[in-house]
Amino acid sequence: MKVRFHGAAGEVTGSCHEVHANGKILLLDCGMIQGSEEDEKRNELEFPFEISQIDAVVLSHAHIDHCGRLPLLVSRGYSGPIYTQEATADLLKILLEDAASLAQMDAERDNKHRKDGHQNHQPLFTKADVAKVLTHVKKMQYEMPQEIFPDLHVTLRDAGHILGSASVTLESEGKTLLFSGDLGPKNTPILCDPAIHRKADLVLMESTYGGRLHRSREATVTELGEIFEQAWNDGGNVLIPAFAVGRSQELLYWFAKYFDEWNLNRWKIFLDSPMAVKVVAVVDKHEALFDEEAKKVWQGKIRPFNLPNLHFTPEVAQSKTISDTKRGAIIIAGSGMCTGGRIRHHLRDHLDNRKHHVVFVGYQSQGTLGRRLVDGAKQVRIFGEEISVNAQRHTIGGLSAHADQAGLLEWYGHLENNPPVVLVHGEDDARDAMKIVMQKKYGNEVLLARPEMELDV
Ligand code: ZN
Repeated sequence: MKVRFHGAAGEVTGSCHEVHANGKILLLDCGMIQGSEEDEKRNELEFPFEISQIDAVVLSHAHIDHCGRLPLLVSRGYSGPIYTQEATADLLKILLEDAASLAQMDAERDNKHRKDGHQNHQPLFTKADVAKVLTHVKKMQYEMPQEIFPDLHVTLRDAGHILGSASVTLESEGKTLLFSGDLGPKNTPILCDPAIHRKADLVLMESTYGGRLHRSREATVTELGEIFEQAWNDGGNVLIPAFAVGRSQELLYWFAKYFDEWNLNRWKIFLDSPMAVKVVAVVDKHEALFDEEAKKVWQGKIRPFNLPNLHFTPEVAQSKTISDTKRGAIIIAGSGMCTGGRIRHHLRDHLDNRKHHVVFVGYQSQGTLGRRLVDGAKQVRIFGEEISVNAQRHTIGGLSAHADQAGLLEWYGHLENNPPVVLVHGEDDARDAMKIVMQKKYGNEVLLARPEMELDV
């Protein structure tokens, strides 16, 4: 077997690796590049491989940086199968359709604001392209090896990162290639811990947090409870910008678990995100994939998605009524970094008053409204309005969907033969740190993937 690296080879987005095995060519992921406008322009470029030669795609999970260029691949002529875990197949529809809507809105906005009269900005892809992708999907289950071509076996195993996320094992020509996909930390609520692998000849491993250790989830959750108490005493509302997949559902899980302890019955809780509401239905459907603790919680009296005071507000008209609640509302809304979505309306309505609280539960990247708020901005601009920021802001780490350095080392440590590792899906700082600690601990060969680098398995 042979691997060629195309995307997430020196950055954390655009995951895409090409594998040659027994005369066939596979893609592991076909993700979108995310970041600055300039970075995202690269999504429009030709693929660095011949589409007609690709025999199959294996998709690790439904995050856009892993699946977001599938609609382009298909609209440019790919007609083969896309193998993925069955829950990922369900999430794929929701995430790709959302990405298509965003692309459409971007194009419309761009065309409206052009001064030269040319209105030729086409969206990267459309909902029709997404529909075509879905017809190519072949659902797989965890731990069920499948011979997709003669002498080429694929096995998906739980990666514990988001629902349906998988590490991919490819076996061919007497060799085993293991692709970690994105790996979750242990003890993520609802999800099982990442599965253990014992043997591989080459490992492609993510390294997003290869240089960091996370705060514990327990400490983080305790802090969340304390913030609610403080906000109640202040007589305000609590806004939580959150990603629609994963974190929004995790928050509801903690609310169910600590419902009595945190006196949550006195609050009104809103999940104000049409996408998060759709994802809730998918999570509910796949209870079989939950860890033991979540299965117990789901059998309990207070279930995460049926809290007695939880309101789903997918319609705009419903969302607008939330602002009638002047105190005692917990509002979870997207987008996670406040770059778009309904959270911006809520921020506009709440930021100027000190009795309200904003809780950041996820990473806020440079240049986003979320980051400016986290960094302590006293004034921000939302929908063209200058708004003074007096609301109290909290950043709680520790709810990451990615394993930290210790978690990555532990996952690798179960491999009995210390195989060589190629670090993908990480910035260079994180990968350098990971390489040093890994070589010290296991004495194995550690390489950093670069675009168009090639390796034999
Ligand atoms: Zn991911």
